[in-house]
Amino acid sequence: MLGPQVAACATPVVEFDAALIRRLRQSGPRYTSYPTADRFSEAFGYGDYLQAVAGVRNRGGMHPLSLYLHIPFCDTVCYYCACNKIVTKRREKALTYLGYLKREIALQGQLFAGINQVEQLHLGGGTPTYLSDAQMEDLMAHVRRCFRLAPDDIGEYSIEVDPRTVDAPRIHSLRRQGFNRISLGVQDFDADVQKAVNRVQPEAETRAVIAAARDAGFRSVSIDLIYGLPLQTAGTMAATLEKVIAAGPDRISVYNYAHLPHLFKPQRRIAEEALASPDEKLRMLSLCIERLCGAGYVYVGMDHFARPDDELAVAQRQGRLHRNFQGYSTHADADLVACGVSAISAVGPSYSQNVKTLDAYYSHLDRNELPVARGIWLSMDDVLRRLIIQRLMCHFELSIPSVEQAYPITFAAYFERELAQLRRLEQDGLLTISPEWISVTPRGRLLIRNICMVFDRYLQEKRADGPRYSRTI
Ligand code: SF4
Repeated sequence: MLGPQVAACATPVVEFDAALIRRLRQSGPRYTSYPTADRFSEAFGYGDYLQAVAGVRNRGGMHPLSLYLHIPFCDTVCYYCACNKIVTKRREKALTYLGYLKREIALQGQLFAGINQVEQLHLGGGTPTYLSDAQMEDLMAHVRRCFRLAPDDIGEYSIEVDPRTVDAPRIHSLRRQGFNRISLGVQDFDADVQKAVNRVQPEAETRAVIAAARDAGFRSVSIDLIYGLPLQTAGTMAATLEKVIAAGPDRISVYNYAHLPHLFKPQRRIAEEALASPDEKLRMLSLCIERLCGAGYVYVGMDHFARPDDELAVAQRQGRLHRNFQGYSTHADADLVACGVSAISAVGPSYSQNVKTLDAYYSHLDRNELPVARGIWLSMDDVLRRLIIQRLMCHFELSIPSVEQAYPITFAAYFERELAQLRRLEQDGLLTISPEWISVTPRGRLLIRNICMVFDRYLQEKRADGPRYSRTI
């Protein structure tokens, strides 16, 4: 039975209404950026990126940076994977890559000399711990030579860890190297599901990594789960949730598996008949909300749960939550400098993405050029809509007078079409609109992407190449 239910979360509450979700779910972006990456253009190149950095310098003042480093290698492929990665057992490839990555970091360090205080660092992949301990040590020492990292109690330094690649001494070593937050890929503890997605990862292994992270003094431990994988049912999900709750991470992300085999080759190895039905997926989602909120986690938004005392939940209560390519973040408005193949930077009013292949990456850096492949300059309209989408995603409400103060517009006139669309969602009970506020209701929180899509100007343009986004729920 999937009737409406309000989970007993600490604020903000979230209401699960299966009938409404069934009626309104559709394909849509996750809005880790706006405009979304599929709007980037090759007309934006290295020269544009240099101009964006010059703009940051001219802006004056000290704005701390966010740094992202992409390690694309994985030892084996998980069939659900939609990441940009290179699956190889030839470890020497990582050594060559590391050399070039360090060159890119040095070039970026020169560009930001004098304004290079980093308060947020994230290593993602692929599998960052594909690098050996010594290689990681070398990389972090290099980062410290090129950028000034804020002290441990201020900076947020996180790494994605595949529990299959590390042991307790390695976790302690990562802490000594400066990481203070750790994110573990789990997806599901069920052995059959793990086999079906080619990611066999015993529960004991994951528990040992969590225990080591606590022991080593990591400030936040996060676990990633996925619902909708082959062979998953509400029953297997319930068992996994019980184990996850017992492990007690600070944050839990629960992603909806998007089966898009026309875009992501590994997914072609997943038997479609083994996938859960849309209704079963809804049951799993409902269960996640009920169990996690019942265990005291706060629904932060868009697949994310956190303990009430975790920084994300605190930042949300204080109105400081932000969203970027790594998901939710507590560091609002930091320019994001991203290094590595396919990495996306957000500097000033621009986004720029690096080339996607190793050969192209190496050849740009051999010419002493940053490997920018494409990007976009944001217009005033883009910046305004990005602000609105960010506010709604992070805080579930928007102050109309604050937008009118920051931008030379009359909200009702500028967003006449959008307000008309929102009124239809208001009738469905997803939000309320007053002259001062747009407020998402507990019922609308799970459908926040639908609400944000109303403000996405680019979605008005029809695409000819089929669905590119996952379902909003
Ligand atoms: S899911 Fe992660 S570990 Fe698995 S193949 Fe993709 S990037 Fe690699």
